[in-house]
Amino acid sequence: MTDTPQGFDTLAIHAGTEADPATGARQVPIYQTTAYVFRDADHAAALFGLQEVGYIYSRLTNPTIGALQNRIAALEGGAGAVCCSSGHAAQIMALFPLMAPGRNIVASTRLYGGTITQFSQTFKRFGWSCTFVDFDDLDAVKAAINDDTRAIFCETIANPGGYITDLDAIAAIADEAGIPLIVDNTTATPYLCRPIDHGATLVVHSLTKYMTGNGTVTGGVVVDSGKFDWSASDKFPSLSQPEPAYHGLTFHETFGPAAFTFHGIAIGLRDLGMTMNPQGAHYTLMGIETLSLRMEKHIANAQKIAAWLEGHDAVAGVTYAGLDSSPYKNRIPKICPKGAGALFTVQLKGGYTACTKFVAGLNLFSHVANLGDARSLVIHPASTTHRQLTEEQQIAAGASPDTVRLSIGIEDADDLIADLDQALKAAG
Ligand SMILES: *Cc1c(COP(=O)(O)O)cnc(C)c1O
Repeated sequence: MTDTPQGFDTLAIHAGTEADPATGARQVPIYQTTAYVFRDADHAAALFGLQEVGYIYSRLTNPTIGALQNRIAALEGGAGAVCCSSGHAAQIMALFPLMAPGRNIVASTRLYGGTITQFSQTFKRFGWSCTFVDFDDLDAVKAAINDDTRAIFCETIANPGGYITDLDAIAAIADEAGIPLIVDNTTATPYLCRPIDHGATLVVHSLTKYMTGNGTVTGGVVVDSGKFDWSASDKFPSLSQPEPAYHGLTFHETFGPAAFTFHGIAIGLRDLGMTMNPQGAHYTLMGIETLSLRMEKHIANAQKIAAWLEGHDAVAGVTYAGLDSSPYKNRIPKICPKGAGALFTVQLKGGYTACTKFVAGLNLFSHVANLGDARSLVIHPASTTHRQLTEEQQIAAGASPDTVRLSIGIEDADDLIADLDQALKAAG
């Protein structure tokens, strides 16, 4: 072994895994088991007391899921990771140790539609709240933070428009306020951006999207940078004070940079139960092996198709940040130098009706509520994913009624362009 850090493509295939210790199996086996036999009573007691790390029950830990956690932590440059049952579960798992009734978070207006609903509606049931602000207005972000704010939340490349967030600027605001920045890195993936390198404390993903990459798995993950000092203030008692939910254990003092990850397993998964399944973890491990290759093709296709669409008569605008016309183009070199992802929106001159006809007329593009699949996908957010929002919220989120979202796949770009062309003609 050498000390030279390994490259991303090597980590994507090898990190977190070794030949199976039981059988020598080269690929990570699917450990489809609920429980694990204890060696003896002392072993069982040590595992439950967290004096020894091992396997007890698959709601908490499982070797297949553990391999995936270690691989994603390595790709994101984090200290640890906890997988969970979906991207939305990951968001709750990230916030749970930080929040309490009466606390709030400050989040970008430009988020996945389901996230806006989770934060604005379901949060209330926990006594939490969320203030949404335009993250291009740094003074507004600062002004929205108060004594009860426990986190700042944004997406690297924001759904649906593909807007790029200035993570370094937002991280500086979080630092000054002594609170963590949580970044949803789903649409960028660590191939395009590692938010921890830009100052994020926690990174969440919907593994459902590019990380698995083929529309087969629902999964999520929370990655911890291990860099936040949970004991610097009295804001995060679950991590810095004796935790009554784990017989008075003080997580930060006991586990240092692994505190958030241990808390996520020992309390988050134990009590919320939003556990990933081993088979899903196996598929996601497979997907990550080809992440770099897929993302390269996604980006090349998106760049070509966005440019073609921008020149089309029926099109009023294209939001792809890789275009010269994008106000976010200048953030690419700093935030995601390999490219602006493969998710963007197109505005049609014919408005709402043209949008629904356009979606109906596409053949190669599948009309689904998903993104980040190997196949190209399309949706009209205002009538679907962003339907629950007011028109004002839709516009702030980049999902106005004349907007269609495209998730560009890895097919041949010319075939995708031909499909878009015939559907635009059919839409009038
Ligand atoms: C899909 C998605 C989510 C939610 O993930 P699920 O796996 O569907 O729960 C959150 N954020 C972004 C950016 C997404 O694309």
